[in-house]
Amino acid sequence: MYALRFRGSVVTDKETWEKAVAAVAGEYAALASAVRMWTEERTSAIREAKKALNAISQEVGGGEICAVCRGECCARGRHHVTVTDLLVHLAARRPLPVPDFSVDHCPWLGTAGCFMDPTCRPFNCVTFNCERVEGLLEPPVREHFYRVERDLRALYGEVEDFFGNRFMHGLLLSYERAVAGDGVLLRVGKP
Ligand code: SF4
Ligand code: SF4
Repeated sequence: MYALRFRGSVVTDKETWEKAVAAVAGEYAALASAVRMWTEERTSAIREAKKALNAISQEVGGGEICAVCRGECCARGRHHVTVTDLLVHLAARRPLPVPDFSVDHCPWLGTAGCFMDPTCRPFNCVTFNCERVEGLLEPPVREHFYRVERDLRALYGEVEDFFGNRFMHGLLLSYERAVAGDGVLLRVGKP
């Protein structure tokens, strides 16, 4: 069981995760509708970019290769899900799959693969291809993949700039850092 030391007491990742999700969901619900509309539009673009990356991998049989491999690259996903990824789910009105922090591998990895839809998986997950998949991409396709990756990175950057915060270290750590400060994660319009 993993745990974080948090304001002098030890709490589990599960407890911290639940508080973090509730905090971001609460802040998101309290945003002005124009801000939520901006978020819906940009996170929709994020999902489109992820869909394009997944399509490239699927075209060369990535789905079957990864199914046989059963997620070797998913050993460490604990901090891959960020505030931005949670916003993607909230804006799309999709429940974020519940992580299982009792396992040694990524908490979103089940026996049938990742709990998350490919269009909602974290940045690190959708932009990684091991050499078994990467080696099947023809050079122009590989270039296209990396162009979409750059676009996706820029979109994540836009969301961070808009909300005046840095989220790439993962939701658990972003939340812990916010609680150690003024508790605010979505700093839009705030100093
Ligand atoms: S990208 Fe490679 S290591 Fe990761 S699940 Fe697919 S085949 Fe396995
Ligand atoms: S979130 Fe999904 S794709 Fe990413 S490491 Fe975890 S199981 Fe793998």
